[in-house]
Amino acid sequence: MIVDLRSDTVTKPGKEMLEAMMSARVGDDVFGEDETINELEEKAAQIFGMEAGLFCPSGTMTNQIAIKCFTQPMDEVICDETAHVYRYEGGGIAFNSSASVRLLYGDRGRLTPELIEPHINPDNIHYPKSSLVVLENTVNRGGGSCYTVGQIEPIYHLCRMKNLKLHLDGARLFNALVKTGDDASDYGNMFDGISICLSKGLGAPVGSVLLGSAQTIAKAKRVRKIFGGGMRQAGFLAAAGIYALDNNVERLQQDHDHAAILGAALKDLPFVKHVMPVETNIVIFELDDHHHGDEFVSKLNHHGIKCNTFGKQMIRFVTHLDVSPDMISYTVEQLRKLH
Ligand SMILES: *Cc1c(COP(=O)(O)O)cnc(C)c1O
Repeated sequence: MIVDLRSDTVTKPGKEMLEAMMSARVGDDVFGEDETINELEEKAAQIFGMEAGLFCPSGTMTNQIAIKCFTQPMDEVICDETAHVYRYEGGGIAFNSSASVRLLYGDRGRLTPELIEPHINPDNIHYPKSSLVVLENTVNRGGGSCYTVGQIEPIYHLCRMKNLKLHLDGARLFNALVKTGDDASDYGNMFDGISICLSKGLGAPVGSVLLGSAQTIAKAKRVRKIFGGGMRQAGFLAAAGIYALDNNVERLQQDHDHAAILGAALKDLPFVKHVMPVETNIVIFELDDHHHGDEFVSKLNHHGIKCNTFGKQMIRFVTHLDVSPDMISYTVEQLRKLH
């Protein structure tokens, strides 16, 4: 048995999703003529109560476009030090937007107004202009930790008061919504930009959508073209996204249940020093000092279980659409045999 717990990006489209892709009506999206992309953008915008959406090849692109739209060169972006936009987008904030970054140290990647406020620069020519706050929900490096709407609201009010834009890296926002039961439309009311990934837990092969006001998305469309992200008959991909939004959101609960089972099993193992609280579909744990991450990963690999290290002694498991209950039982069984 092969159990791939490296990432929720490894899913492959099933028969029904493929059928939806094969029967998509397409056109040249740079001319705005791809009906399926237009439908996906409208659908995603509607879910969050936002005016418009923009289909892009990746979450890195939707995030970087948003940052470009919400900053000017020499501005400063405020985010947590674990943020994907800072750590995993290749220095794109500097390269694409010529902006600096103010890093904060939140609770498993989650910020509060108290943490942010002292780092908003006063209007003084010595300081870069603070213009944007980026939040991530769920937080990847936080082990899938999530914010509730109630926790984001005071951050939103602070940003309004201080004239800062607020962007959400919502690569796994649907995991947070399933976990908290919060209303998607509350997100649309608070954020200037929201990036959602279709290719993570939702199980589509490719794609992210940036959501915002009509004005923001008009600007974002120019930036997407410059970044090389203007695609043509990409409705075949958008069809997978529509299918995913219609069919694969509620089932995220199963991924969360699977992650909880893995988290509970890991806690009982003698060689596991610490398991981060499991809130959604990510399990991050730390091995004791006698175990090396790379060796642990290759031992599991030997039994068909794939996963990644996340720092020297840290390991990450991610559950997803292509992980069955049987695979979870098998993984627990194999973990118990290790020493
Ligand atoms: C995966 C991910 C992204 C986007 O990644 P792409 O691989 O570029 O689609 C953005 N933010 C977070 C938190 C992610 O996990």
